[in-house]
Amino acid sequence: MRYLSTRGAASALGFDDVLLTGLARDGGLFLPESWPSLDLNSLIGLDYPDLAARVMQPFLGGRIEPAVFAGLVRNAYADFGHQAVAPLKQIDARTWLLELFHGPTLAFKDVAMQLLGRLYDHLLAERAQRVTIVGATSGDTGSAAIEACRDRDRIDIFILHPEGRTSEVQRRQMTTVLAPNVRNIAIQGSFDDCQDLVKAMFADGSFRDEMRLGAVNSINWGRIMAQIVYYVAAALALGAPKRRVAFAVPTGNFGNIYAAYAARAMGLPIEKLIVGSNSNDILTRFITGGAMEIGQVHPTLSPSMDIQVSSNAERLLFDLYGRDGARLAEAMKGLRATRRLALDPAQHAALTALFAGHRLNDDETLATMASLYRETGELIDPHSAIGVAAARAVPLDPDIAVVALGTAHPAKFPDAVEKATGVRPALPPALADLYERPERFTVLPKDLGVVQAHIRHEIAKGEAA
Ligand SMILES: *Cc1c(COP(=O)(O)O)cnc(C)c1O
Repeated sequence: MRYLSTRGAASALGFDDVLLTGLARDGGLFLPESWPSLDLNSLIGLDYPDLAARVMQPFLGGRIEPAVFAGLVRNAYADFGHQAVAPLKQIDARTWLLELFHGPTLAFKDVAMQLLGRLYDHLLAERAQRVTIVGATSGDTGSAAIEACRDRDRIDIFILHPEGRTSEVQRRQMTTVLAPNVRNIAIQGSFDDCQDLVKAMFADGSFRDEMRLGAVNSINWGRIMAQIVYYVAAALALGAPKRRVAFAVPTGNFGNIYAAYAARAMGLPIEKLIVGSNSNDILTRFITGGAMEIGQVHPTLSPSMDIQVSSNAERLLFDLYGRDGARLAEAMKGLRATRRLALDPAQHAALTALFAGHRLNDDETLATMASLYRETGELIDPHSAIGVAAARAVPLDPDIAVVALGTAHPAKFPDAVEKATGVRPALPPALADLYERPERFTVLPKDLGVVQAHIRHEIAKGEAA
């Protein structure tokens, strides 16, 4: 199995290089050169780790021993707070909630990140290399990355967060991880300052090489690959291949729903993919109107979807542009320059044949949380509520099972849940003492030289130890 770049100008790479590289040299995203096909009947009845190993195996292209890989997968999901890893809960006659928030940081990103950290460690050990992961977070992705990298032998991780500007749960999920390879830096500035510092560190070639900088961001192919699995698991549980399914996905960077698109390309009987948007509705407008138009970011109750540029949408565009990397590279250049990309009628028809979009503002999100609580007693977070409302909004054949993706645990957004339902959700047992745990972080000014010196010093200290 080889991987191509969506921009067509980088050479094809194998699985291990794709995982460790992230972005292709031509600025594109990696995709498998062809989709392996699922033998669904042979997958019925497997537990989640066995299913995961079987579904992902073809993507490895023989670069990891099957038994070794199966062990990494089982280990990645061993500590999830629910034995099923990704349990399904029926919420009305034709709608299910797929709970993806039983990992260590209570959000769906754990499902992929827990595996990715272990894959990195394994591949780096084979190459006798180390990596220093550097990232900026406004709260959510930082903790998932830290939990994925903690205690890994070959990885150091530095996460920059804006001092005093994350919620206390978010900060504590990062700063109470005391593993020696994890360093939290509170920057005296905004999230944008943190992101600028990270970009500047990657742009500094000598620092990048000296520290062997790496990233685990949402465009990494490994994250998409690991997310394919829960779509297969949910569809099988609901009766596939005999029964058709649809998925409604609260969407930001398009990574999660793209994994569903990949599962369909592999033969999963998916009838419809429904994008759920908050007021940052660029993707819903793209699906209904056929043009991607980048606007301003609005803060909402579902902050993990408060973005305008959905990087992973480029993987879908690659197919809409007939897998012609040069043509897509041109279109992406246009999008950067004019902040607009318009599909032609044939491309738009291909898009709407599979995708639908549904937008919710904050009031509608709260109303969805309140009505689901009234009807079923279930508390859901604002992101998951957008999935549920989207699942119910699109008319489909009654024999199609519709699955809404639950992307965060309600206790991760307690204020919004309480506002909607009057009930304050409790943290699950594994995190119940979060507010008593000791924290460790270093406060630094928004000064590139100071931050680089700190990272150099910490790495040198680790090497001496
Ligand atoms: C990241 C995230 C999303 C958006 O997922 P994408 O893959 O970026 O589309 C939705 N909900 C929650 C809770 C998230 O953390």
